[in-house]
Amino acid sequence: MITELRERTDLACHRQGVTAAWFYSDTTADQRHAKAVCATCPARQQCLTVALTRRERHGIWGGTTWHERQRLIDQPNPPPGRPRTSQAGENNGNAKITHAIAAEIRRVHATGIGYKTLSRRYGLHHSTIARIVRGEKWQPTR
Ligand code: SF4
Repeated sequence: MITELRERTDLACHRQGVTAAWFYSDTTADQRHAKAVCATCPARQQCLTVALTRRERHGIWGGTTWHERQRLIDQPNPPPGRPRTSQAGENNGNAKITHAIAAEIRRVHATGIGYKTLSRRYGLHHSTIARIVRGEKWQPTR
């Protein structure tokens, strides 16, 4: 298990009945089993963040394959479908993100991920990430 998650005792992949080989298998059926386990894991976001930061090429991490993680890493901007300015839920009139995404950024940052990594991942300037993390101009509207 990865160092960053070693202290956790609630990892879904450590539950009885879960087969470790599912997480490193090339078969779709096994990967589906692994993803289903990840879907119930309380450490999913932290696990995914670690895998993205390490550019982990092997295995299912945080419910994603390497190809899925690669897409997240390569993505310069928020993925299609994410609300843009006109739908922003934050107080900032020029907001490019929603309250949910701002909350996600704060959560991921709390796991130790730096501004630059978050900046690349969410397609925002690192100073914007810093403001989001500090809660400046990015408090939820309700
Ligand atoms: S998200 Fe998946 S791989 Fe990561 S710790 Fe949880 S169950 Fe294991």
